[in-house]
Amino acid sequence: MSEKHEGMIVILSSPSGAGKTSLVKEISSKNSFSISISHTTRKPRINEVDGVDYFFIENDEFKKLISENKFLEYAKVFKNFYGSSEEVVFKKLDKGESVIFDIDWQGTEQIKLKNLKYKLITVFILPPSREELFKRLLNRDLNDEKNAMERMKKFDEDVLHWKNYDLVVINDNFNKCYEKIIKFINSKQNSNFSDNYDKSEINKHVLSLLK
Ligand code: 5GP
Repeated sequence: MSEKHEGMIVILSSPSGAGKTSLVKEISSKNSFSISISHTTRKPRINEVDGVDYFFIENDEFKKLISENKFLEYAKVFKNFYGSSEEVVFKKLDKGESVIFDIDWQGTEQIKLKNLKYKLITVFILPPSREELFKRLLNRDLNDEKNAMERMKKFDEDVLHWKNYDLVVINDNFNKCYEKIIKFINSKQNSNFSDNYDKSEINKHVLSLLK
């Protein structure tokens, strides 16, 4: 009888607008990773579907789930709460399915601190430039300039957390970025040894983003 293996946890984080959600979808569809669908108190955007992009819930319901210890991690991002349901994720991992998360640095820290039995890989995505980031944020929020500016302010704080991730990738080309992440996941999956990345190059890029 073959031995049963647990799945692994892959976390992708990035400041808002760096293109992480599309990467998560690509990794999931091409590599049979299951996406952890978060609960949020944020209102759905025009193209978002309840139960697919998020479980959209009210504040009271979110608080109830916190009090019942239903979250593996949760955090307040901007003015809304976001959380990952523990039971669903653990069931999948125990069946051998790998799960990919699109969560912020606060949630990543919480999961790291839990020292779970599952293999954990953390990836941080950076935008190619400040200008491109602003363009993407405007585009996504239907040219809501105020909202995009608010997210840019938050960017300066969020970007500093890149140092706590296993891999940091600049999303200047979607396919190249995807390939780098998959290569890293594969090397980690097969052993504890993994490809490294150029930290001084990333440091330089982060400084250019903060100018
Ligand atoms: P958005 O509102 O743009 O969909 O997401 C805002 C931020 O919340 C993104 O950085 C996203 O990764 C993060 N996020 C989404 N779901 C979760 C979650 O379940 N937990 C945490 N900690 N962050 C989340």
